[in-house]
Amino acid sequence: MKALVALELNHFCVEDVSIEPPRTGEVRVRMKAAGVCHSDLSVANGTVPMPLPMVLGHEGAGVVAEVGPGVTNVAVGDHVVLSFVPACGECFFCVRKEPHLCIRCDPGGRMWDGTSRLRLRGQELGAMSQLGCLAEYAVVPAMSVMPIDRAIPFASAALVGCAVMTGVGAVFHTARVELASTVAVFGCGGVGLAVIQGAKLAGAKRIIAVDLADNKLEYARRFGATDCVNAAEDPVAAVKALTGGWGVDHSFEVTGRPAVMEQAYAAARRGGSVCIIGVGRYTESMQLNALMLAGEGKRVLGCFYGNANFRVDMPNLLALYQAKRLDLDGLITRTYDLDEAPRAFADLEAGRNARGLVLFD
Ligand code: ZN
Ligand code: ZN
Repeated sequence: MKALVALELNHFCVEDVSIEPPRTGEVRVRMKAAGVCHSDLSVANGTVPMPLPMVLGHEGAGVVAEVGPGVTNVAVGDHVVLSFVPACGECFFCVRKEPHLCIRCDPGGRMWDGTSRLRLRGQELGAMSQLGCLAEYAVVPAMSVMPIDRAIPFASAALVGCAVMTGVGAVFHTARVELASTVAVFGCGGVGLAVIQGAKLAGAKRIIAVDLADNKLEYARRFGATDCVNAAEDPVAAVKALTGGWGVDHSFEVTGRPAVMEQAYAAARRGGSVCIIGVGRYTESMQLNALMLAGEGKRVLGCFYGNANFRVDMPNLLALYQAKRLDLDGLITRTYDLDEAPRAFADLEAGRNARGLVLFD
């Protein structure tokens, strides 16, 4: 099958990859749609260090093509969304109702028995987040798939696997935005736009979008931002000016850059929350003032996968989509064939899309 493989740092291309059948507790999914996410790029360029070579892709939807022994939650023919954390239901975190932190998640991309189903010219390949769904097929843990209503288009459903779950989850689960609160969102790509939509659903009275790119600020306004700030001007001063001088109740950082994290911190009011969603470099840190951290009483919240319980949240988000209260289709600004994936990543880096998506068939 064809798959997008990160071969070594800054070198990825579409390759012919062999794939083994699913083993116990695994399923093979025929991919129909897979998102092009900044985290894929971060693996490819070393921002997030991972053992390479690895098949990229962690946001996808498709059809179950084959099930391994012992699989009971899905059957061949089911339409499914993939979760990039498996939620085993049994580990320290799962039993504490924090399945987004499930320890069965192996970012290094091996299956639960420590092996891989993927090979390139005889060499074992990792699968990003045990999915590797920028490929025609993916063999994944059955615990990582969620069956969905067949009426939902695969392209829209795929986005719930990463960007939308993360962004909307950050609003409701991590920051817990209240009715009539004020919100600022630093970074208006796919996840940032999902934060904006979530804040609108939560009834925020003011949603301030911050980005350097005017096209992204335009998207932000379409998805519910009440105010747009180009980050080329002083965004902290601009956010404070829009909120009576105090700053926002809830600030969200979605770029992964330490300088922007510090801006998001500064733009929150005293006692407000600062939700860090963006994934930065392992070697970088954000600075917090040792006196003011306590003195201002702000809550700094790390957010992984929107603190989501995907088995509950995926169907809920898709129900909101079907009720036309959550716009997934509008996030997809361009689609690509798998062969065009390198182009899709170039467009991602250039900030051309709200979300780019690879479609199969
Ligand atoms: Zn992602
Ligand atoms: Zn678990």
